[in-house]
Amino acid sequence: MTTIQPKPPPPLSLPPSTSYITLQALNTTAQLYVKSANFLSPLIPGHEIYNCPTLAFLLTHKSSNRKILFDAGVRKDYWNYSPLITNHFATSVNVKGLRVEKGVDEVLLDAGVALQEVEAVVWSHWHFDHVGDLSRFPTSTKIVVGPGFKENLLPGYPANPESPLLESDYAGKEMEEISFEGEGELRIGMFRAYDFFGDGSFYLLDVPGHAIGHMCGLARTAENSFVLLGADACHFAGALRPSQYLPMPETLDGRWGLDPYFMNPCPWELFGDCHPGTGEEKRTSPYYTASMALGSAYVEPEMANKSIQGLKEFDASDNVLICLAHDPGLFEVLPLLNDGPRNEINGWKESGYKEMLRLRFLNELPKEGKPGREPIVLGFWRDGKEVSATEALAK
Ligand SMILES: [Zn+2]
Repeated sequence: MTTIQPKPPPPLSLPPSTSYITLQALNTTAQLYVKSANFLSPLIPGHEIYNCPTLAFLLTHKSSNRKILFDAGVRKDYWNYSPLITNHFATSVNVKGLRVEKGVDEVLLDAGVALQEVEAVVWSHWHFDHVGDLSRFPTSTKIVVGPGFKENLLPGYPANPESPLLESDYAGKEMEEISFEGEGELRIGMFRAYDFFGDGSFYLLDVPGHAIGHMCGLARTAENSFVLLGADACHFAGALRPSQYLPMPETLDGRWGLDPYFMNPCPWELFGDCHPGTGEEKRTSPYYTASMALGSAYVEPEMANKSIQGLKEFDASDNVLICLAHDPGLFEVLPLLNDGPRNEINGWKESGYKEMLRLRFLNELPKEGKPGREPIVLGFWRDGKEVSATEALAK
């Protein structure tokens, strides 16, 4: 038996404030099953394709009741994205499954949230599974984007036939591009920060590497507790954990949420075989780094890995819960807005979600060389039926 002592993380310098956010997690209903190679490195046999359900967040500023949405999922009629995106679906061998039951607008309406109440939608980045269909929102809804967005991505289609975005997404709406520069630059942990409401209740973080202008969110859920909305800073919780700060425990008992397949308690060695590291690394470094492959989904993979290092420092804090947009474990643990309009996750600390979520990704890793979990979706789905790519993408 070897117990690994966690390394103490560098201080995060989380600024104090008594202004909070009511944070609600919502299942955008977008389900993806995608090839790992462009996201995760190295390839782990049995995990060549992986599950990407897609989470977004509704934030309500507690004292003013102002509401913003962080990310907007996949548009329900995904065949109406710009040709750049639909051609990607048609020709790409990367997307092995895609299904969307509801637009994020419908998820909000079902929960009794009027779209007029949503003052702004933050796009963590421009990828199709985060921008949704904002033409469904009134022109009073502002769009908030990260540094370099406007210069690199506007105008949308059809003004620019090559654009991944649609002009209709932002037509008539104000678009605010966040700047992290300036005097008295605020930093939290490794990242530059922007105080969104000006009172310390919600910060946008400059977390580069995956896509131009990629931002995370940091919502204060109580005086000294935060949820870090990780978006696509990394694409699998096993690319973040274990770490030197949160090493793999010696044995894993019921509290870690392992599938009934595993013995309880389960020795860590059962998960060591598919870890690419050697010796103690297997318990102190993540299973993956950001893909460096040609065609990597990371525009700057080295930068992305630095950003992931920064996220590990947040992950090490008992006061921060990290929620990546595509982490399947979140859908098992968090009470979702879809299941009740009052469901919120502010009580994550008292409810023990952090521990329940930390190692759930192990369920997705291969078991005896075979996929650990069934695909959440296979093939293209339209109107509740599986159809060919041609049928799926027909206008
Ligand atoms: Zn994504």
